[in-house]
Amino acid sequence: SLTIGIVGLPNVGKSTMFNALTRNNVLAENYPFATIEPNTGIVPLPDDRLPVLARLVHTEKIVPATVTFVDIAGIVKGASEGEGLGNKFLANIREADAICEVVRAFEDDDIVHVNGRVDPADDIDTINTELILADLQTIDNALPKLEKDLRGRKIEPSYMEAVKQAKAILESGRTIDAAAQAGEIDKDELYDLHLLTAKPFIYVFNVDDTELMNDGFKKKLDDSVAPAPAIFLNAQFEAELTELDEADAREMLEDAGLKESGLDQLARVGFDILGLQTFLTAGEKEVRAWQIHKGWTAPQAAGVIHTDFEKGFIKAEVVSYDDFVAADGSMPKIKEEGKLRLEGKDYVMQDGDIVEFKFNV
Ligand code: GDP
Repeated sequence: SLTIGIVGLPNVGKSTMFNALTRNNVLAENYPFATIEPNTGIVPLPDDRLPVLARLVHTEKIVPATVTFVDIAGIVKGASEGEGLGNKFLANIREADAICEVVRAFEDDDIVHVNGRVDPADDIDTINTELILADLQTIDNALPKLEKDLRGRKIEPSYMEAVKQAKAILESGRTIDAAAQAGEIDKDELYDLHLLTAKPFIYVFNVDDTELMNDGFKKKLDDSVAPAPAIFLNAQFEAELTELDEADAREMLEDAGLKESGLDQLARVGFDILGLQTFLTAGEKEVRAWQIHKGWTAPQAAGVIHTDFEKGFIKAEVVSYDDFVAADGSMPKIKEEGKLRLEGKDYVMQDGDIVEFKFNV
């Protein structure tokens, strides 16, 4: 499954946030046979539609989609030089599909900052510099062979150009992700290099309560994070939230003037940045959100439920979530109103599709 690697300087609140994430762990409940590593947290993707569907189809069982986070310990200045912890760090981060950088933005004189002062933009710079240096190393290591392949016409000149352009971007101190989002370079062209900074980034700012609603702070940071998504949360507050039952947690959120917990936001943004979306199934046995890649067709989606469903795919019976709810979940009513769509093998799945697959065995 796809994973998001959590990185950050020491003492920024990473463990606090990660522990809160793992206390939200849904794995044990729904996937009792899976093993879970101590540095892995599998958290539910918040989805308000699921309880609504469960009520309509009279089931107690809800299985949400999930987002997997991996705590990648130990980034420090010099990590890219690959000494000791550095090498392990780089190997771990290479395996992640996206990078979540936790950045300290809270002031607390009792908690030492590794660089001596709280400066989020500077922290991001420290971390990104290490990742950028690692990528430059990757490119420099690859270049002699690429030059040779170019002379032997084994690669296109356009590929070499893309690699050199990537090198220039990195040398200017920017990530490939940022440059790609600005439309300057096509990540797909660089796929073979597996560059770290070509992964999608999310920034999490661990802020004080008073900063949570402060837009001035966000604006100040724009240059260093744009155009990657940023989430503002208070890790200690999030940790407290996970210790409460649902009703109390909701009340605590409301008291703080928040609609949603930071961890829920993180799960949603993370899911999205991994290029995932869900479709839904709703029956007496369970209501479930299944995760697929954006752009997948109906047979591919069917294959997520069972490989036989993909091989023997005939058609998909699809009703949108809104139509399903408008008809109180009554199939006869949905059919009567012409809201049940029959979709074939080329159908591209849409978020919120409630589906039943028809297949040959
Ligand atoms: P890590 O080294 O990045 O994993 O950081 P920790 O999660 O261990 O946090 C370092 C210290 O900062 C701990 O004493 C935490 O209790 C404290 N801390 C974490 N988040 C916050 C926060 O939002 N506000 C304040 N004041 N302290 C925090």
